Amino acid sequence: MRKPVIVGNWKMNMTVSEAEKLLEEIKNLDLDENVEAGVCTPAIDLVIAKEKLAGTNVAFGAQNMYYEESGAYTGEISPLMLIDIGARYVILGHSERREYFKECDCLINKKVKSALAHDLVPILCCGETLEEREANEHEVKVKSQIEKDLKDVSAEDIEKVIIAYEPIWAIGTGKTASSDDADAMCGYIRSLIADMFGKEASEKVRIQYGGSVKPNNVVELMAKENIDGALVGGASLKASDFAALVNFAK
Ligand code: PEP
Repeated sequence: MRKPVIVGNWKMNMTVSEAEKLLEEIKNLDLDENVEAGVCTPAIDLVIAKEKLAGTNVAFGAQNMYYEESGAYTGEISPLMLIDIGARYVILGHSERREYFKECDCLINKKVKSALAHDLVPILCCGETLEEREANEHEVKVKSQIEKDLKDVSAEDIEKVIIAYEPIWAIGTGKTASSDDADAMCGYIRSLIADMFGKEASEKVRIQYGGSVKPNNVVELMAKENIDGALVGGASLKASDFAALVNFAK
């Protein structure tokens, strides 16, 4: 039985004072304890996330990290810094990082392995562009990302990874993949994990859908067999929406 996992991706939103206010609201929400909930904040908000979310069931994490522990990497944040602050998650390979910051699969693979070596939970994002979907190349694209990004990860470690299937055309656009299409792709990703790591591991790996998930579509998406959670951008910035997402089963 895979525990549902709903994680907010704040992206480059929320100054520390704004984060303080939102986290105070999140702290006071009545959330379903059968659902794993988390928020991935900008790095500058992590200290306040640690303080505000202490004693709650909402975990927190980062949206990126470098794979080295420390050193001359100006502007980067390291796995040691994240575990020291108490972060649980780190989003890796988000399509915005792949596109705007030219992150390649080889770099993402190093980051995934480093996160696992430091007991962080990588939320590994994958997904196709609209052109790839229209050319019926979505499976080829996602297969290539999964195989490269998870290269040399052990069968034991793969169970700790959360995979987020995020079709790029559905992120921040208000267009959601149909629940059947989202489920089919999450099922396809599970079959790739089975090929790479064995069936038992594939049944334990949690696969999220991401792309304009809102309170009004979360129930339908979460009812699908292969969708174990959601990675949520826009709707995670409002405490009442975040609560409605986490409480999808209530
Ligand atoms: C995301 O940022 O990962 C995302 C899915 O964004 P949104 O929910 O806004 O589409």
